[in-house]
Amino acid sequence: MWGFIVTCGIFLVLLCQLRLLSKRKSKSTPYNALLPNVTVFAMGGTIAGCANSSLEIVNYIPGSVGIEKLIEAVPAIKAIANINGVQVTNMGSENLTPADVLKLAKLILAEVAKPNVHGIVITHGTDSLEETAMFLDLTISTAKPIVVVGAMRPSTAIGADGPMNLLNAVAVASSNQSMGRGTLVLLNDRIGSAFYTTKTNGNTLDTFKSYEAGSLGIVLNQKPFYFFSPAVPTGKVFFDIYNIKQLPRVDILYGYQGLNPKLAESAVHLGAKGLVLAAMGATSWTDDGNEVISSLIREHNIPVVYSHRTAEGYSSNSCLGIPSYFLNPQKARYMLMLAISSGYSIRDIEGLFSIK
Ligand code: GLU
Repeated sequence: MWGFIVTCGIFLVLLCQLRLLSKRKSKSTPYNALLPNVTVFAMGGTIAGCANSSLEIVNYIPGSVGIEKLIEAVPAIKAIANINGVQVTNMGSENLTPADVLKLAKLILAEVAKPNVHGIVITHGTDSLEETAMFLDLTISTAKPIVVVGAMRPSTAIGADGPMNLLNAVAVASSNQSMGRGTLVLLNDRIGSAFYTTKTNGNTLDTFKSYEAGSLGIVLNQKPFYFFSPAVPTGKVFFDIYNIKQLPRVDILYGYQGLNPKLAESAVHLGAKGLVLAAMGATSWTDDGNEVISSLIREHNIPVVYSHRTAEGYSSNSCLGIPSYFLNPQKARYMLMLAISSGYSIRDIEGLFSIK
């Protein structure tokens, strides 16, 4: 009887593995020993999006085209690098979860450990691209270039920006000039630091910006030109995710006139282990809201990070909780999630965020 049950169990596990293998698509270009090896992890988004008409740039389905089609659409890529394309997911990036991003980071860690891999490209939806890029910047400690790329027009559109962005991203990942610059974001010919780059416009091609910090460089004719030597962003910290199996829930609350102070309490009751406030101005939260925050910190020992709803700005320590300094809410959130998973105390987290 037991033998029969064990045999059935093994059979089911094998069946699941076969299914998983058949679902994971990959694509490689012909090998050229003179070129660097670049691994492209595909996550979905507009760069892999399809619409009914070549004129349609608003209504389309993101994550419709597989990695093989993305690579085939850019034949010139073969002259720049040997591509190993791997499909990780294929969806709109608004549906990606911290678990997906943790899985991607672990795949990248395994890939950059291979001596023959020169760089990594991640094709990604633009809506939450900066979150994934920030997470990778905080967790992948390597000099090898990690480049996150997306597109604002679906692959079916006239003037689709995806093919050129992908070509440029591979060029950046193949270049020795890109070494030691952390995770990079590439769209619209601009190379930005993941730590600072944010999506500023829901529709335009020039949406990704790092206002105050500026871009690191540009790509012209598939050659990156950097304005500065490699540098580490001020306040960037590194988290080891090797032992992290799951990230804690951290919620972002938005500030506005007459905000409901109780939402902070509800978030904690629903399982938030930390909060990030997209505060008005630099760190302004309403007086009744601050009373609730103060009791949450006292009674639940919850770390609360005060960031800002403004596109740019500096949240300093004129607040009850932990100021995010230059980090916007979505970037501060991943930093807080990683800090909580790594077992940091509230005082340690204050130290992590603080810019001296
Ligand atoms: N919402 C989709 C996503 O983030 C499409 C946006 C885009 O990629 O530009 O994947």
